[in-house]
Amino acid sequence: MRQGSDPADAAPKPALRAIPPGLHFVSTPIGTARDITLRALDVLAGADVLVAEDTRTLRHLMEIHGIPLNGRPVIAYHDHSGEGQMQRIIGLLAEGKSLAYASEAGTPLISDPGFELARAVAAAGLPMTAAPGPCAAVCALTLSGLPSDRFFFAGFPPSAQGARRSFLEDMAGVKATLILYESPKRLAALLAEMAATLGGARQAVVCRELTKRFEEVLRGDLATLAEEVATREIKGEIVVLVDRAVPAEVTEESIVEALDTALRSMSVKDAATFVSQTLGVSRKIVYRIALDRSQG
Ligand code: SAM
Repeated sequence: MRQGSDPADAAPKPALRAIPPGLHFVSTPIGTARDITLRALDVLAGADVLVAEDTRTLRHLMEIHGIPLNGRPVIAYHDHSGEGQMQRIIGLLAEGKSLAYASEAGTPLISDPGFELARAVAAAGLPMTAAPGPCAAVCALTLSGLPSDRFFFAGFPPSAQGARRSFLEDMAGVKATLILYESPKRLAALLAEMAATLGGARQAVVCRELTKRFEEVLRGDLATLAEEVATREIKGEIVVLVDRAVPAEVTEESIVEALDTALRSMSVKDAATFVSQTLGVSRKIVYRIALDRSQG
């Protein structure tokens, strides 16, 4: 059989379904072009107007998947496009048109434009939906082996040193797996700063080039990862994940220490309640120790 003549070789053609009026957020691949849902292809094939953070990237993706433009307009939009462009989009939606919006890669709004648009469309009471799909943060969490019951997506840390330090300090006590995006140039510095702020023993994972040819997942504690990354050239796109802090072991000594501090400004009752809640130990035990301390 001639190569390519087997129907099974052909990429599934998107169904040419009518797309309902309204704004359709479309998630696009974060690497491998085939990571796109059939519904996303339907929306791109059927929307009246295509809107993109980067119109060239969207045209290229549509070419790869054999979706013709058929003369449909492709307009650029990002969160700094200005009021005029926003009003143009709202106007088209108010006319009953269907619009597909895709950011450069992955899920719109996730460290990507789309938030201002979603807010304006919601405020105008116009229809809006999403064709969900790839997102680097979720893909990295899936591969990390870190707890996924609760996670905190922090986006890109600020690049200015002071803002960066307080950003990391704010995350020290978050009881969830932390997920950050970072540029490869700043990765070594970020890991070293996190080791200093969050503690070098915290378990962490670095995911690089997800879904692409050179996909790589590095695991270790923050101190070890910081050292490893400092000794090699890191390229590509990066997600950093950090496990939550392991609660320190509570001993009679640590209860006494916490109580002595609390008793300087609180009554015995209040100090016992505060310390039992902070350390997660029985109030009865803490109260007995507090009484002894206050009487002794
Ligand atoms: N909207 C995208 C999403 O849903 O993940 C994120 C866009 S943000 C501008 C780009 C950042 O996402 C990159 O700098 C990197 O931190 C992360 N990222 C995107 N694609 C990735 C990939 N294939 N592997 C690892 N990280 C990726």
